[in-house]
Amino acid sequence: MSKKLEQLRTALAEQGVDALITENRENRRYISGFTGSTGWVIVTADAAVLVTDFRYLDQAAVEAPLFTIVNNERKPVEAIAGQLKSLGVKRLAFEKNHISVGVYEAWKEAFAGVELVPTAGLIEELRMYKDEAEMTIIREAVRIADAAFTHILSYIRPGVRELDVAMELEFFMRREGAAASAFDIIVASGVRGALPHGRASEKVIQAGEMVTLDFGALYQGYNSDITRTVSVGEPDPKMKEIYDIVLQAQLNGVKHIRPGMTGREADALTRDIIAAAGYGPAYGHSTGHGLGLEVHELPNLSAASSVVLKPGMLVTVEPGIYLSELGGVRIEDDVWITETGCEILTQSTKELLILPV
Ligand code: ZN
Ligand code: ZN
Repeated sequence: MSKKLEQLRTALAEQGVDALITENRENRRYISGFTGSTGWVIVTADAAVLVTDFRYLDQAAVEAPLFTIVNNERKPVEAIAGQLKSLGVKRLAFEKNHISVGVYEAWKEAFAGVELVPTAGLIEELRMYKDEAEMTIIREAVRIADAAFTHILSYIRPGVRELDVAMELEFFMRREGAAASAFDIIVASGVRGALPHGRASEKVIQAGEMVTLDFGALYQGYNSDITRTVSVGEPDPKMKEIYDIVLQAQLNGVKHIRPGMTGREADALTRDIIAAAGYGPAYGHSTGHGLGLEVHELPNLSAASSVVLKPGMLVTVEPGIYLSELGGVRIEDDVWITETGCEILTQSTKELLILPV
């Protein structure tokens, strides 16, 4: 944790500010270790303060040992103002993407003599890199998702509702140690597969349909995110064709993604193959996203992304093809960028599975 604090302090010096304040839950947790729902972290060049309330004082002391814990006495803005004053903060960075106009106005009024400097992404850019301690947790989140995929294969059959598949996945993951599902589980069967984010519905799965399952485990604050598409009985030949194209695109992505590449170049690894097969317009989302304390975080692997990939970053690679009135296919792995390429964390097979009907 201390390394993260040091990295943030370097970023603050580069920004020419005395301190940063964050109330964003993930950023607060990342930099302090505190997992509670309410609190404000203030980091200066030599101090680290966590302002929280009575409910969390003991928990904060355990979870954020490098921070001075301050009881806000039910007046958070006054408590924060008092800390800024005693720390001598003159230029205070705040996260413009994470606070409301109302909070900004209240701070402006209460923090006399402090210049509020809008910033974006200072902690999020640190969060792109996962260290060994984080990876130990993430590997477990991925293991739970892989185990859930294996488990659900014997559950999916004609006559079962998408919602029942989602519930069984979630129940299994929680039994394996997940705190929750990482996000609303996507189970999109048949024509609903054309909806890239088709959350599980009451639709009953039929023989001959493909089913896209997109889910993940939330484990000790970190998320996994996997997608597989399976066929319930023999698939439509056209669906089989697009499955093979998506698989080739996904395999090309995980084979060639490496440090030094931009997000745009990584995106092209999957997009060019799908476009060459004539399905470019049917692949309307980006190749992948960063993954960690949030399901979607930096860096983005998209045509608009200039970020340069570096070892330690964790991203998804998830091309898809979606055909209205027919269905869709998506295949998603979580990969950790290494010195030479990537390590594929998700282990579930990507061969087309044809489930018995
Ligand atoms: Zn996903
Ligand atoms: Zn994803």
